Amino acid sequence: MRYDVLIIGGGPVGNYLANLLARDFRVAVVEKKGSFGGKACTGIIGAENYGRLGLPDEAVLNELRGAVFYSRIQSFEVERKSPQAYLVDRKALERWLAERAVERGVDYYMATTFLGFRNGRAVLQRLGERIEVEADFYVGADGVNSTVAKAMGAQTRAEFLSGYEVEVVGSFRRDFVEVWVNREVNPDFFLWVAPVNERIARVGTFGSIEALNRFLRMRMLRPTSVVEFKAGSVGFGTRKPWAKGNVALVGDAALQIKPTTAGGIVYGMLCAQALRRALLDGRLGDYERECAFVKKQVSFGLRFRRVFLGLGQDDIERVFEILGSQEAREIIESQADFDDHLKTAKAILRRPRLLARLIRVSPTIIRTLL
Ligand SMILES: Cc1cc2nc3c(=O)[nH]c(=O)nc-3n(C[C@H](O)[C@H](O)[C@H](O)COP(=O)(O)OP(=O)(O)OC[C@H]3O[C@@H](n4cnc5c(N)ncnc54)[C@H](O)[C@@H]3O)c2cc1C
Repeated sequence: MRYDVLIIGGGPVGNYLANLLARDFRVAVVEKKGSFGGKACTGIIGAENYGRLGLPDEAVLNELRGAVFYSRIQSFEVERKSPQAYLVDRKALERWLAERAVERGVDYYMATTFLGFRNGRAVLQRLGERIEVEADFYVGADGVNSTVAKAMGAQTRAEFLSGYEVEVVGSFRRDFVEVWVNREVNPDFFLWVAPVNERIARVGTFGSIEALNRFLRMRMLRPTSVVEFKAGSVGFGTRKPWAKGNVALVGDAALQIKPTTAGGIVYGMLCAQALRRALLDGRLGDYERECAFVKKQVSFGLRFRRVFLGLGQDDIERVFEILGSQEAREIIESQADFDDHLKTAKAILRRPRLLARLIRVSPTIIRTLL
């Protein structure tokens, strides 16, 4: 068996890339699971990019047009008229992408695990037997613990966090996501309540299972009303290089993940587009350069995370007072971009009054962010 491109990993990014490449290359996807979906993931994707990337309406479970931010002692709300993000069914999204890729001529090897490279070939374990597949080009889209990244000798400098998420039955405001920033409940990350509908929400956080349990109690959601539990991990940092010889990494495998929210689906897909252009031009060296937007966002997100980890809860309360002011809320409501947090931060910091108040909380906030 010989292919132009062998994609290792049939998650959202690998399947998306398979669709992009199908017209110009002979492509195969290797996926270790026997079916799609099942990964811990809230499935929130910015509405604008969802449309731009051509993702399917049928995977959308809910439309979110606002957020309520809670700290320990206060809250504020931002909203827009139109949906800013969608909450999607991961399995439906992955399966839709895979079905279209097959229709475009891509071969799928399900329940098949990539083990490593030998003599330029991919060694795969498939239903009890070992096979070798040869390709001109290999892409690791195999997630945060990428075997391909290890096999190509990529260097990782990152903070890895475990994520815990439940689906819980309760009563929720359907088009608003809740974001809780309370370091006494969880010192590692914010906590979220993302409604699937009025009756069910995905509630989660990164850090520890204890933090999620504390939050469920505080939010008065009964542990016995949980109908699904999932755990996964994310990596915030850098993994280099993204391409070496005839191997490239994309998606979580390359840590193309927003450290502000742990969202990785859109950034992975944007980089998949860049990888396609580089492959078509035969200039793999251009791949990382073409991902400049994602790199800038990841770098901003890492600095934002440093700021967050350096703030005590009292500082967070003061930041909440500033962000909850009418001036800040108006900026967020009119200019916030779901996938461009740098732009949102700049819009806020351009206002002299807000800037002066934030500097008073901590001068390092501004130095670190800009
Ligand atoms: C709790 C939690 C909540 C999240 N919420 C969001 C969110 O709301 N929005 C968002 O955008 N992102 C979210 N993320 C991040 C998101 O899940 C990832 O960014 C996204 O899944 C990346 O897609 P991917 O295709 O690169 O990798 P993955 O989804 O990890 O897919 C990799 C695929 O490769 C396969 N694979 C792995 N190893 C091998 C191997 N050796 N051989 C063959 N196949 C292999 C895996 O089975 C998997 O199917 C969340 C993550 C967590 C943990």
